Amino acid sequence: MSVQAPTLERAQDLLQKFYGYPDFREGQKKIVASMLEGNDTLGIMPTGGGKSICYQIPALLHEGLTIVVSPLISLMKDQVDALTTMGIAAAYINSTLSGREVNDRIRAARNGDLKLLYVAPERLELDWFRDEMAQLPISCVAVDEAHCVSQWGHDFRTSYLAVAPFVDGLYERPIVAAFTATATPQVMDDIVRLLRLRSPETFVTGLGRPNLAFSVLRGEDKRSFLLNYTREHEGESGIIYAATRKDVDDLYQRLCDAGMAAGRYHAGMTDQERADSQEGFLYDDIRVIVATNAFGMGIDKSNVRYVIHYNMPKNMEAYVQEAGRAGRDGDPSQCILLFGPQDIVTQKFLIEQNPQDEDRKRNDYRKLQQMVDYCYTTRCLRSAQLEYFGEAEEHEACGICSSCTDERELVDMTIDAQKIFSCIHRMRERYGVSMVASVLKGSRNKKVLQYGFDSLPTYGVMGNRTEKEIAEIINVLVSEGYLMLSEGQYPVVRLQQLAAEVLRGQRKVMQRVVRHATAFASGAG
Ligand code: ADP
Ligand code: ZN
Repeated sequence: MSVQAPTLERAQDLLQKFYGYPDFREGQKKIVASMLEGNDTLGIMPTGGGKSICYQIPALLHEGLTIVVSPLISLMKDQVDALTTMGIAAAYINSTLSGREVNDRIRAARNGDLKLLYVAPERLELDWFRDEMAQLPISCVAVDEAHCVSQWGHDFRTSYLAVAPFVDGLYERPIVAAFTATATPQVMDDIVRLLRLRSPETFVTGLGRPNLAFSVLRGEDKRSFLLNYTREHEGESGIIYAATRKDVDDLYQRLCDAGMAAGRYHAGMTDQERADSQEGFLYDDIRVIVATNAFGMGIDKSNVRYVIHYNMPKNMEAYVQEAGRAGRDGDPSQCILLFGPQDIVTQKFLIEQNPQDEDRKRNDYRKLQQMVDYCYTTRCLRSAQLEYFGEAEEHEACGICSSCTDERELVDMTIDAQKIFSCIHRMRERYGVSMVASVLKGSRNKKVLQYGFDSLPTYGVMGNRTEKEIAEIINVLVSEGYLMLSEGQYPVVRLQQLAAEVLRGQRKVMQRVVRHATAFASGAG
């Protein structure tokens, strides 16, 4: 029997035949081509970007079995059901099966009756499973949610470290392909190193999904915003993420009271309650679901029109993943982050509560600061995201995010910035944002007086503004790189090179005025 060479053309035929899609998406095409050439491949794609097809189609074209490592048992079943319905020979093995069922599936694999076998990473640690697989012709090991192998990611799982030894133990080394939605350069390095990818072709694509309009809103009354927004979008599906169960319950109640078709989801509910919520949302009985970040892994609902974050998440990876659940069908959708300074306090509390070593803690604080910077930036939000994830190409402004559509005037803030920088310098770069703001305001706060800051020449030079406004300006200066916050629970503001240029009069600082128009208009006094 002659086997047809696995070409991209054949891949396209199968895509049409099994999935009914006329074309690969741009990123998929490159990844599939790379895998068909037999390269180890690292594919970085947003949630909803279509990662699964990237390994499913090559699985059909290569001889032998493709093993898919996937961390979520519920997702595994859904995927396999979908494949089976399409007529693709797939199965999964996990802890929900009886010994007999497992044996049946192993036998099917042995007989060459399967093209795809889904397993959880823990399975790769079992000797008997490794022995079974070592005998079989395996064309590819596809690792889903590959960021789980990295301690620097947001979802480390030790069992992912078993992938590389598993691959080494196989009869012939297969292609190893890794996929994730979330990868900073650090995580990407870890994936390559810890999965022992061999000169992998790496593709980072589509992180800037053009149908998603990102907004960051600071200083909103969050509750009234939510009630108004959901009422105005009553016929649409939406997800509201909140940080705590308490917030979820509270917001859910308010939406119900307002007559919305609302649901909720968090880890404090029973399995049944959660399943009901999920189901109700999938079938549009529930239009808006209020949830903690426990919700969403494996949700494949294409027509989510908005994702609102009631609180700032812990890092950009988590944010992009959660927000990315909007607009999977490609239609215009909104991703709105409601930011309040209290969110920073909450996230720091969570970091402190989490028992972990100093390195990881420092890393968490650093990621948190990058998230905060995102909330304060005046740059195009999509460009900021792409840059964070290290997408190589030049970014054009997206034209639809809250920065791009911000019509407020850019105001020359150089004088204020100079006051702030000079004050930080005189305080010897040893204090946090609120202390600096108090001194600039001319506060009679006990600490200010105790340290003798009332005798600094910069004491009270911004007395015409509130401390909150001053802190806000400082935070924007941090996000724009003039200042830096040290890591840790009580970060200290430090001057950066850019600030020195401003102090020397070599650089101007432009900011968009935030809300407090009158205070800004009254000028320095
Ligand atoms: P991910 O695993 O990256 O989150 P999925 O593989 O679940 O994404 O795909 C997301 C959605 O996009 C699915 O509904 C899938 O059927 C659809 N999709 C994937 N590839 C294509 C394509 N080439 N053309 C049209 N739809 C596609
Ligand atoms: Zn933009």
